[in-house]
Amino acid sequence: MWEVMLPQDFSKLEVIGEGKTKIVRRMENPDLVLLEFKDAITALDGEKKDTLTGKGHINARISSFLFEFLSKEGVPTHYVSFIEPNYMVVRRLKMLPVEIVCRNIAAGSFTKKYPVKAGSRLKYPVVEYYLKDDLRHDPMMNEDHIVVLGILPSIEEVKEIKELTLKVNKSLSNFLDSKGITLVDFKLEFGKDKDGKICIGDEINGDSMRLWDKETGRVLDKDVYRQGKKLSEVLETYRECYKRIIGEEPKV
Ligand code: UDP
Repeated sequence: MWEVMLPQDFSKLEVIGEGKTKIVRRMENPDLVLLEFKDAITALDGEKKDTLTGKGHINARISSFLFEFLSKEGVPTHYVSFIEPNYMVVRRLKMLPVEIVCRNIAAGSFTKKYPVKAGSRLKYPVVEYYLKDDLRHDPMMNEDHIVVLGILPSIEEVKEIKELTLKVNKSLSNFLDSKGITLVDFKLEFGKDKDGKICIGDEINGDSMRLWDKETGRVLDKDVYRQGKKLSEVLETYRECYKRIIGEEPKV
């Protein structure tokens, strides 16, 4: 077990990275980092940006809950512990500059790129790889690109990532189905721990998944924000997502 020692005021911990929705802080134990989930919400490569009070708590809690669930399912993740209201302690990973997307139902960019009906179930889950590179607008890659670009040393490790992604898809789809939610698609990020073991990092929540109500098709994820809905409706959607997954009201 990890011994987590934390000072009272996390804001005093040195910032070692900051993205659009999370701050990464150094911890006393060099093998761990603290992820702080912000109340920021962004879309269109950060062009659209707002503050949604309580979103940081909701997304930190959902991520922690789902990482705990996946760990129990035997999936290696960086998750260590959740700290109220919006912090997650995680193992430090060397992140791979790749986003892995897995799709069960045609939605989003998939329906823009390919001649497929939005909302149709795919014959089997499709796994896609995107290079994390803002200047190049995150180009899609195939498995060979990942090896040739030196992101992973062998095709076997690429296959390992694909198999883990499909396992996550199966476990999460079943779990969410039991909560009345269809897992449409999601994005994962992987990294290697200090022993070189491949683990899932980053976050898993309504910002990185498309979730639809099984019966009504109601959207329960960030798409409501991408669609330009009122911020009050966006927050209500995040709250509903929390309630369904965690089984209680969010604390904000
Ligand atoms: N996704 C993400 N971060 C990204 C791009 C996509 O978390 O930078 C997630 C997105 O929420 C969805 C899935 O990956 O659940 C597939 O997204 P898609 O490629 O359709 O792109 P989008 O239409 O969301 O831009």
